[in-house]
Amino acid sequence: MFQKRFHILTFAGIPIGIHVSWFFIAIFLTWTLAAGHFPYLYPGLPVNSYWSMGLSGMLGLFICIILHELGHALVAKHYKLPVAQITLFIFGGIAELKKEPKSPLVEFFVAIAGPIVSIVLAMFFYMIAQLGDQNKWPLIITGVTYYLALINTLIVLFNLVPAFPLDGGRILRSILWGWKKDLRWATKVTTLMGSGFGFFLLFFGIFNLITGNFVVGVWFIILGLFLQRTAMVCQSQFYVGQELKEEKVAKFMKTNLDSVSADITIKDLIDHHVYQSHHHLYPITQNDRLIGYITLQEIKSVPMQDWDITLVKNFIQPLLKEQIVSPHTNALAALEQINLAPFPTLFVLDKERFIGILTAQDLLKLVSLKLALEGTPKY
Ligand SMILES: [Zn+2]
Repeated sequence: MFQKRFHILTFAGIPIGIHVSWFFIAIFLTWTLAAGHFPYLYPGLPVNSYWSMGLSGMLGLFICIILHELGHALVAKHYKLPVAQITLFIFGGIAELKKEPKSPLVEFFVAIAGPIVSIVLAMFFYMIAQLGDQNKWPLIITGVTYYLALINTLIVLFNLVPAFPLDGGRILRSILWGWKKDLRWATKVTTLMGSGFGFFLLFFGIFNLITGNFVVGVWFIILGLFLQRTAMVCQSQFYVGQELKEEKVAKFMKTNLDSVSADITIKDLIDHHVYQSHHHLYPITQNDRLIGYITLQEIKSVPMQDWDITLVKNFIQPLLKEQIVSPHTNALAALEQINLAPFPTLFVLDKERFIGILTAQDLLKLVSLKLALEGTPKY
């Protein structure tokens, strides 16, 4: 989803980046502030001042959104939920978790952390602005701090609408989940509310469009469509997860293991394995025990003239804990583990014995086959 993203910094082990769509918002927002909001509230200042206020307002908002997302991310980390990354995009920010929260209480704290950060920021900027007013600070400072107090308040209000995947929807889901002990039902209710809220924004946008409020109209139409779609995607992702939970790794791992011995040459590997089976990765075994693997990347690094004098042994990649899975693990847990592995492949070990390989594609195939054979899940 966030392919075109630029990394800016890493904080507490969490990569923070910007998606290209944010740049459009940055320009649009700076312009709206410099040509609309600030001249309207504080008339009579030089044009330059409006532009520096617009720019600082935009940058301030940018930092506030990152802090909001860091709120979610740090609480998630506290509960041992790995955070993939934080990305700013056209509709704000998103902290991507690699796993779903395991209990209602964890989901509640992770979801509420962002709005709490925004409330604190709103109060902080409001106090600074008040202080500025009393001490006759330049309008450039008080104007921008009042704006940041306002925008953080709006962020809180919008995010607390109980519509999944907004924070309020996640908070409500955690409460319903804790109350009825039924995550499936809680997800269904809150994603439907998310979809409903999306439609509400869409119609609000259309209303604005026909009453002549073009920019606001288009904006709400896009936002409404986006929310509606995301809510439905989250719902089906959840159902897919439930399907996966019912299946064990052993059932759909690949068992035609093209494993190689550590003592063969790269030339043997290429002639008898790579050109035959076209895999990207080859498990390396010694006396029937898996000792590591080699990928096309390592094979490619060997110059062609050295192929028949170089042994596979010299390029063994050691197995990491995250790359090993048991055949009895359920497919959802395996999928979460694949997210943590360096590349989307797991080695299936039954006790010490190497019995299979599992890729992200195998999991996707399983889901689509199940849906084709057993129909859409009814919940
Ligand atoms: Zn949030």
